[in-house]
Amino acid sequence: MSNQQADPEVGTEGPPTEFLDGATVALGGPRGMAVTRTLPNKRRRMVGAWCFLDAYGPDDLDGTPGMRVGPHPHLGLQTVSWLVAGEILHRDSLGSLQEIRPGQLNLMTAGRGIAHSEETPADHSGVLQGVQLWVALPNSDRDVPPAFAHHADLPVITEGGLSATVLMGELAGAVSAARCYSPLVGAEITLAAGADARLPIRADFEYAVLALDGAATVDGVTVKPGPLLYLGDQRTALRLQAGSATRLMLLGGEPFAERLVMWWNFVARDHDEIVQARSQWQDGGLFGEVRGYDGPAMPAPAMPITRLVPRGRLR
Ligand code: MN
Repeated sequence: MSNQQADPEVGTEGPPTEFLDGATVALGGPRGMAVTRTLPNKRRRMVGAWCFLDAYGPDDLDGTPGMRVGPHPHLGLQTVSWLVAGEILHRDSLGSLQEIRPGQLNLMTAGRGIAHSEETPADHSGVLQGVQLWVALPNSDRDVPPAFAHHADLPVITEGGLSATVLMGELAGAVSAARCYSPLVGAEITLAAGADARLPIRADFEYAVLALDGAATVDGVTVKPGPLLYLGDQRTALRLQAGSATRLMLLGGEPFAERLVMWWNFVARDHDEIVQARSQWQDGGLFGEVRGYDGPAMPAPAMPITRLVPRGRLR
């Protein structure tokens, strides 16, 4: 076995890779669904504008309530919901009501403020697996009006046993219709057993790969479900190989230059903006009401005793 060694045909050129270990978090409180959070990470807070990555499942929903994330606010970001298996029902304060299934994108642009809930619908397939991502909005667009879009028809590229669905941004000439506010890409890549493919990428983007199912080698480095493989920038192609059927999430983007304060469900620029957003949620203004969710809205946690400090993409 030589999985941890560089592939002799690829060589060791290119930036060094790092594994970013995930933290296990109970979504919606201690009795909530377990997710593995790899962004933000202690060592690296962002990949491009991607600032949050939770992966969950596959979970057998038999005897469980499934996903139950009650109404909560967002600010200054986009939420990207993507499923590998199962169903989620999205509701928001714009009045959107949208179920998503595997292969479809739910994209919510919080902009200046929105509230939403996510739940396993009553009529479901009994299994749930997916990822929840956030994209930080650049300063110039962080106050855009809130919006929700469902994309069921996303571009797919195929090459040598590889199939990639482009959720956000552009990959190898395929462009998603989903609205982005900074140069980035998010794609689900499936590799057939025995796949050996070369995927062109941009040298000015930094990239990371998360394995959702199976195992693959990415430029000679083996990636399995769990940690996020950070690949850096300056690569012009990725060599992707898999012995058995494998599913990956590829994230990339221009390194995000602005400093952010991320707290709870908000992305802002300083402590006082977070205090204001928190009180606006507690007061019931700005974010609006989510109708139809059978349960309470989430209260904001207490502010920390010390002032929140804006941080860059590295820690
Ligand atoms: Mn949310």
